[in-house]
Amino acid sequence: MSIGVLAFRGKQDAIDRWSPTARYLSERIADYSFRIVPLTLEGMLDHVEQDRLDFILTNTGNYVVLENAFGISRLATLKVRHLGAEFTQFGAVIFTRQDNTELNALADISGYSMLAVSEEAFGGFQMAWRELLEAGIDPFEDLRLSFGGFPQDDIVHAVLAGEVDVGTVRSGTLERMAADGLIDIDRIKVLGARQSDVFPFLHSTRLYPEWPFAKGRRTPEALAQRVAVALLELEPDSEAAVRAFSAGWTIPLDYGPVHELFRELEIGPYAYLSKPSLTSVWREYKGWIIFSLAMMLLLMVLLILISRANRRISQSELKYRAEANQRRQAQELLARHKEELEERVAERTAELADVNTSLRRSEATLRAIHDITTNPEFRFEDKLAGLLREGCRFFEMESGVILSIDGENDDFLARVDVGADGEPVDYRQLARRLRKQIAINHDPVAVADLQGHCFQGDSDVCESTGSVLAADYLIDDETAGVILFASSRANPREFSDVDIDILQLMAQWLGGEIERAEINRRAQEHQAQLAHVSRLNTMGEMATGIAHELNQPLTAILNYSGGSLRLLQKRGNGDSELRQAIVNIGNDARRAADIIKGLREFIQRGEHRRERFVLEDCIESAVELLRPRLLQHEIEVDLRRVEAIPDIVADRLQIEQVAVNLLINAIDAVCAVGHGPKKIEIGITRTGVGEVAVSVSDSGDLLSQSVIEHLFDPFYTTKSDGMGMGLSISRSIVESHGGTIEYLVNEAQHPAFRFTLPVT
Ligand code: ADP
Repeated sequence: MSIGVLAFRGKQDAIDRWSPTARYLSERIADYSFRIVPLTLEGMLDHVEQDRLDFILTNTGNYVVLENAFGISRLATLKVRHLGAEFTQFGAVIFTRQDNTELNALADISGYSMLAVSEEAFGGFQMAWRELLEAGIDPFEDLRLSFGGFPQDDIVHAVLAGEVDVGTVRSGTLERMAADGLIDIDRIKVLGARQSDVFPFLHSTRLYPEWPFAKGRRTPEALAQRVAVALLELEPDSEAAVRAFSAGWTIPLDYGPVHELFRELEIGPYAYLSKPSLTSVWREYKGWIIFSLAMMLLLMVLLILISRANRRISQSELKYRAEANQRRQAQELLARHKEELEERVAERTAELADVNTSLRRSEATLRAIHDITTNPEFRFEDKLAGLLREGCRFFEMESGVILSIDGENDDFLARVDVGADGEPVDYRQLARRLRKQIAINHDPVAVADLQGHCFQGDSDVCESTGSVLAADYLIDDETAGVILFASSRANPREFSDVDIDILQLMAQWLGGEIERAEINRRAQEHQAQLAHVSRLNTMGEMATGIAHELNQPLTAILNYSGGSLRLLQKRGNGDSELRQAIVNIGNDARRAADIIKGLREFIQRGEHRRERFVLEDCIESAVELLRPRLLQHEIEVDLRRVEAIPDIVADRLQIEQVAVNLLINAIDAVCAVGHGPKKIEIGITRTGVGEVAVSVSDSGDLLSQSVIEHLFDPFYTTKSDGMGMGLSISRSIVESHGGTIEYLVNEAQHPAFRFTLPVT
């Protein structure tokens, strides 16, 4: 049989104290063997709950709890032997130090410190608690309450040492300590002390029954009865009683007061009565509350974290979905782009191949055009024909036409027909029509299939034409004509930009070439005129010279023939034949003189063709005429017009002739030197009111006096191939215009010829 014992002073103590009782019972009830099971409060609770104990020996408070909860019932109450007497009841004493004058009654201790055993200690706290409550003091709220645990002696020492103000211990403790000489009991002041006839020890509380011996709810009644009898019969001096510090057992006392206490304090089995005030709950479950709050806080933090994480996850999931969506769209787009790109690359490659082919073709054509247009052996007309033929070949056309259009007049400059059958079409009307169109759009016309592109009102033009390419060419920035390629049938391919470019190139070249040809033609005409004037001047000057030279001998012949006739007459010589001969001599001499006079008059009759012109242009024109010679001899020409020169009115060709003569002499002179820089300076200045002067100086040697004396004489020359007419002609021309010409040495000590002309 197991006897569960509350081992409040440790297991060994419990075993030592109660083993003799177990032994005693085993002896008395021989058919059973009893053993002690030392237990803590919790162990006791567990064992009783699980019905693992047959009998229970525990303190009063604990018994009431177990009785209430698990139906154990008391068989006997312990008779405690204390300081030589027996007691079946006990209480608690509340005390302070004797010298504490402020604390005299229980009600005084509010606000003071108090030390007890533990909250669960029946005698060590709960008894005092009940009394304090009755005195109007809630120890948990009104006192600075602390618990010191066992042994209770420490509480007594702490109060006496002044560590706490008030202490409470089980009754008898103070007397035992005093008997043991541990304290001086006179230094103790009991608070709320009660008097009892049967209970000699100092106490402040009601008295409650001592430890009971109880049976478990499943322990058989008969056995319990036998145990109760055995306990009641235990001799006070028996070992079992002595070792248990008892005088044996008595009948079970009334444990009602203990129930009352518990009920009042709303603890133990009556804890359910406690109206849970916030403070009591806090007091009771402080640890749990803090723990729960902490857990809740933790839980909330976790919840927040989890919800945040959830939110983040759902957000990132949304984001991920959106991204995935975007990525898919981008991929689709990319795939589409890739396809488009591939298509475009393929198209572009094909286009490039076409372009390459046409570039190669156009390169060959360009080379051919270049060869044709730059061939010095070709005449202008040959070049035009060559150009048209190349165009027909390149554009795959039957006919090529260059038509100059001047107002209402037009003129085929060139025409080429290749491979056209039958009567060639007259493209004049088409060219005129297109010229208007080109003038509007400033773009060449290129129609591979004229059907459906027929110009309004020109259906007859279209009838005979299948395809056409046309551009205008410009002279002096004015449309001067059209270059046109046409076929009676539609062209097999559309015309490209390269075609248009080549057509425009041809038109450009054409405009330039025609302009150049015109300039050349004009220059040649000018030169021819100049040469003509020069010849006339030379002839006139020569005739004058010859007349001048022959006049004297002819006059002499006339004089001599007259003299001879007079002499014959005077001498009476009648030789009529001789007379006739002499008369004939005179007549012929006269005739000769008349002829020369007539010739002179004829030549001098040529009147000046006067016109208004810019003198500088006229001089420049002379320089240009001699440009080839100047370049050949590497002669530098500096033409300076010092100030604004008014236009002059004169025979421009004659004045140019003078300039040419002076320049030729200057070229000859600088070439004769053979060293140093070759330079000719021409200056045009205004010498006075109504007069301008042109001077031509050169880097040649100065003229000797003997030369100067004859400079302007006809036929005077110092050159092996010279005619000696240049200066004399120049003087005649200048003088006939009312000007003068002279030789001088200029400031730079260079020879210079200078002529003046009046400004009218
Ligand atoms: P040509 O040039 O045929 O000799 P010109 O009447 O033009 O006839 O010139 C006559 C001469 O005057 C020349 O032979 C030359 O001796 C001289 N003369 C003319 N101009 C110059 C000049 N710039 N420098 C040197 N001598 C000149």
